[in-house]
Formats: sequence, C-alpha cells, structure tokens
Amino acid sequence: MKYLLLAILLIILLLGFFTCPPKSTIAPDVYEVVRVVDGDTFIARIDAQDVRVRLIGVDTPESVHPNKEVEHFALEASAYLKKLLEGEQVYFVYDQNNSPTNHKDRYDRMLAYAYRARDSLFVNAEIIRQGYGHAYSKYPFTRLEEFLKYERNARHQKLGLWTEMDEYPVVSDSLVWFNAGSNKYHRETCRYTTGKSLSMSLSEATAKGFQPCKVCKP
Ligand SMILES: [Zn+2]
Repeated sequence: MKYLLLAILLIILLLGFFTCPPKSTIAPDVYEVVRVVDGDTFIARIDAQDVRVRLIGVDTPESVHPNKEVEHFALEASAYLKKLLEGEQVYFVYDQNNSPTNHKDRYDRMLAYAYRARDSLFVNAEIIRQGYGHAYSKYPFTRLEEFLKYERNARHQKLGLWTEMDEYPVVSDSLVWFNAGSNKYHRETCRYTTGKSLSMSLSEATAKGFQPCKVCKP
C-alpha cells in the first residue's frame, strides 16, 4: 500500500514535469516599440494600448534644459535609444521595489527593465554601459550596485557623456563616493575610494546628511 501511494505520487510528479515546461522555456510576452520619447523613455504597444515606459535605474539628460551642452547630450542620448529600439520588439521585467505603486511612477509611466526581443539586450544597462546615461539612485531598485559599476566603467573609458571628464554637471551634479557603513563622502581619487565604493550625486549625499571627507575634501 505504501509503495502504491509512492508510485502514484511519483507518476503525478512526472506528469507535472512533462506537461508544464520549466519556467525558463516559456517565451516572455513581447511588445512592439511604437516610438522613443527621450533617452530613457519610450512608448510600447501593450494590449492594443500605447504605454509610456520609463526605464528603471537610468537617467539621461533632459532636452528641455536651456543649457546648450545639456541639450546636445540629451539629443545624443535620445538618438542612442532610437538606435537600440526603433522598429524592435521588447519584453519587460519588473522590480519588486515598484510593486507598491503597481510599477507606475508619479507621471503614470510604467517602470520596467526592458530587453530587446531579438537578442535579449538589456536596454537599461546598455545605456549606462555605453555612457548615454547614469545610474539613477534617487529611487531604490535591486540592480543599483550593478548599474553603478557600469557607470564607473563608462566614466573610466570616457564613453558618451563622459567624454569630457571634467564636465560631470552635464548630467546632474558631481558624483561623490562612499563606503557601506560610513557617512563620509569622497572624491573618486581619494585613498578611501576603492573598487567597492558606491557613488551618488553630491546633492544626494548632502541631503542624506553625509559629511565630506577631511582627507580629500570633496
Ligand atoms: Zn576622502
């Protein structure tokens, strides 16, 4: 009797295995890109509706800014996203940090990680890797550290926006560096700044009540 029950259980498990493919083989829902709005926003057609999608964790310069230099980079960032997405299809992954707002921001845009369907290119990350935007740490998201690393690499290689290394303010205010567990912020060149240090903007650091390092005096 015991073996019969075990056998039945085994059959049920095997049936379950063969009738439901493992998650990874289920193709994600794919959506058409209608148009690119700017360097970090585009419109996708989802269930016959045009939905404005804001890419999580990346920020690109705004073209509405009156500063000429900023405008120049805003156009480049927007052109770059067009190059990545025009005429393409994408699929989305969401971040649990945005579930309380049903994955919408305060402008009612959908917050998502976007992947280009034909080659699974991770669009949010690619923008930062190629230097067309920076890791946006104002709102929490799970891949912040990874995105900060991409930004650091792009800056070191002087890609895209970072070509003119001295002109950080074209994107936002300057970045400062900090170490987990400390409330001091540093310059990138400080001896306390290591490969494990994280960056944020100076305004965020001061807003958080962080203190400038006495060694590098940022
Ligand atoms: Zn320092």
